[in-house]
Amino acid sequence: MGKVYLLGAGPGDPGLLTLKAREVLSSADCVVYDYLANERFLDDCRSDAELVYVGKKGGEHTLSQEGINELLVQKALEGKRVARLKGGDPYVFGRGAEEAEQLLEAGVEFEVVPGVTSAVAGPAYAGIPLTHREYASSVTFITGHEDPKKKKSAHNWKALAQSGSTLVFFMGVKNLARITDNLLKAGLAPETPAALVRWGTTCEQESLAAPLAEISERAREQNMKPPALLVVGQVVELREKLNWFEKLPLFGKGVVVTRAREQASSLLRILQDQGACCYQFPTIAIKALDDYSGLHRAFRNLTTYDWLIFTSVNGVRVFWKELAGQGLDSRSLGGCLVAAIGPATAGALRERGIEPDFVPDKYVAEHVVQGLVQRGISRARILLPRAEKARDVLPEALVKAGAEVDVLPVYRTRPAEESGVKILEAIREGKVHFITFTSSSTVENFFHLVSAKDLSMYVPGQVKLACIGPVTAGTLQRHGFQADLQPEDYTVSGLAGCLRQAVACS
Ligand code: SAH
Repeated sequence: MGKVYLLGAGPGDPGLLTLKAREVLSSADCVVYDYLANERFLDDCRSDAELVYVGKKGGEHTLSQEGINELLVQKALEGKRVARLKGGDPYVFGRGAEEAEQLLEAGVEFEVVPGVTSAVAGPAYAGIPLTHREYASSVTFITGHEDPKKKKSAHNWKALAQSGSTLVFFMGVKNLARITDNLLKAGLAPETPAALVRWGTTCEQESLAAPLAEISERAREQNMKPPALLVVGQVVELREKLNWFEKLPLFGKGVVVTRAREQASSLLRILQDQGACCYQFPTIAIKALDDYSGLHRAFRNLTTYDWLIFTSVNGVRVFWKELAGQGLDSRSLGGCLVAAIGPATAGALRERGIEPDFVPDKYVAEHVVQGLVQRGISRARILLPRAEKARDVLPEALVKAGAEVDVLPVYRTRPAEESGVKILEAIREGKVHFITFTSSSTVENFFHLVSAKDLSMYVPGQVKLACIGPVTAGTLQRHGFQADLQPEDYTVSGLAGCLRQAVACS
């Protein structure tokens, strides 16, 4: 017999998924998930896991609650480990208890993994603490979703109004006017601070604060849509001071990341930490080679080289994976010196216990060679593991400087089989403010997927193009576009810095 885990996915920010939920997700045979749960969590699932979407959006049910309950029981009876992923916390207006009761009745074992409820996290990301010694010493969670045809409200509005509690309404956008009317009628002062928080904790968060008597009208003017929470109480005043998330430098800015999926994480993390909405559009796919016998031969001769130069994280990754596959480890390098062409590559080496002997301070081939010449590479034997098709500038310059260079392909890049449709749609909807290019091949492949003509409707203007360095910018120019932004240090953090500066100056 299997088991069902009722998992809270948290409010949207993937960092707010609990460690326990991640552990269950990554081992589940079957994942049954809702609309509100951020789909990025599905990246944590096993690649062979069965994923079932049972979302409800604005009343449109993919599957009825009874249907969901039956599905969970059926999967568990098939012997599966089932992760039932729900937005926020499963027991806070999540119908988790009903599912648990059904499981119990069917004799299916279950476990609950609580999640960070949006009621706490959404307001926190909008600068609103739910309690504060001076403003509120209790909190009430309330459903704002009541059947309008019902004669009598289930809520005791008088008690709510007199409680002095911070009131948090879920699912209240449609009924907003009715909720605020009820509170005012029950005696809450019209000037009581109130706020709406939509898509809290995500890069699409929107918030709006207004006195209780005005908030419904203001929400209508701003076309505020679900999902949002209504927070009512003096604590909302603190928002002025404590609104940290919406002040992040790239908050609300849409950034397209064209890097290969395997290489994108460092740039994504930097951008997301600064509040950006990232659109992953991998223009390149990284593929393993069919035959690694060349690399395996090189492993046996590593000590005959003076230098081993890595030009990418991926090169490092493949090198050590194959090394381990041959039953070897870093000791095979012996006294061979190691260079990394960039801080990310250096980081990948450090993760493997290798402190690079040389990291240039500028990350283009010409500078690298200069630096290496100073380290005395003339007459040195160099092994250069890298992508199958890469520019010859580095090896040629090394040879010119007197070195003997063995170029060794260890992976290859291919244009990704993506469609440009989604990205163009996001651009068209005005959601994209920057497109980032981190190599010439990201530029080349981008224009395989999106036509220059389509892009030129938004550039220059709405969308700014950011290139990691001059070579990439040159490739962009050959496609008829100028790089609007280009960092001085040719790194992904430099690139993110450029975006930040551009936003600050706009
Ligand atoms: N179990 C969930 C709530 C589900 S009810 C939790 O604990 O958060 C669905 C309602 O939750 C939505 O209508 C909205 O009011 C609120 N909600 C969920 N996620 C939200 C988010 N990221 N931002 C604002 N409100 C959210």
